[in-house]
Amino acid sequence: MKDNTNYILHENGSRRFLTSPMFDKYDGLKHLFTTRHGGVSSGYVSSWNLGAKELDTEENILRNFEILADTLGIRADEMVRTQQTHTTNIRVVTRDDAGKGVTRERGYTDIDGLVTDEKGLAIITTHADCNAVFFYDPVKRVIGLAHSGWRGTLGGISAEMIRIMKERYGSDPGDIVCGIGPALCMDCFEVDPDVAEAFISKDPAYKEFMEERPPKFHIDLKKIIRHDLEMSGVSPENISDMGLCTKCHKDVFYSHRGHHGKRGLMAAAMIMV
Ligand SMILES: [Zn+2]
Repeated sequence: MKDNTNYILHENGSRRFLTSPMFDKYDGLKHLFTTRHGGVSSGYVSSWNLGAKELDTEENILRNFEILADTLGIRADEMVRTQQTHTTNIRVVTRDDAGKGVTRERGYTDIDGLVTDEKGLAIITTHADCNAVFFYDPVKRVIGLAHSGWRGTLGGISAEMIRIMKERYGSDPGDIVCGIGPALCMDCFEVDPDVAEAFISKDPAYKEFMEERPPKFHIDLKKIIRHDLEMSGVSPENISDMGLCTKCHKDVFYSHRGHHGKRGLMAAAMIMV
């Protein structure tokens, strides 16, 4: 993995994380996507596991969130996390939500996206093959993050994020900058025909982003997300894709498919400072 125009791989001690040059250019914004390297966990979830609790201890996971907070220059109780179940539900979060899902109970379930205009509050989604979609409106100063696996992508979670940013914060989609994190590439995302049919019945244009390789189909979810963002009014030049596959680089990333379910979780994080 070599740095290019799509991502920069940062090394800070044992911590390794990625940023996107498209977001790096904004003052007042921090964002990153973690790798499996830099935390305290061991075994299948070695080492920077941010959530897979069935294969790790609560103590290790909290310590790993503290390492993430330190990387962002904040405390763990200044972060708020999703409760992901492959929905298209997005929660508007404020200072009152600080620490939820990290240092205290959430009090909500079934949340796959977070959006806020609050400075000093980091929003966090977690991933192990599913897409992270980053959103930033530098004019209205709003950040959003979505967990977009195939169900969330089929449901249109990225279009839903743009809708909420327009309605709640008055964002102009033409101002919004979007990024797609490391997730399965088309070769690694193989599905049964019923999944491909569900996409085509939603929008026949999606046929362009899949290939039939009998008896399976392969779908390029990143291209579908990009298409949906453009249909929502985001400018093509304002959409960046890190261009990395979690399964192709399973030495760097946790991959649900690559590690046969025995894996930790990585995080996407954004905060306005
Ligand atoms: Zn791949």
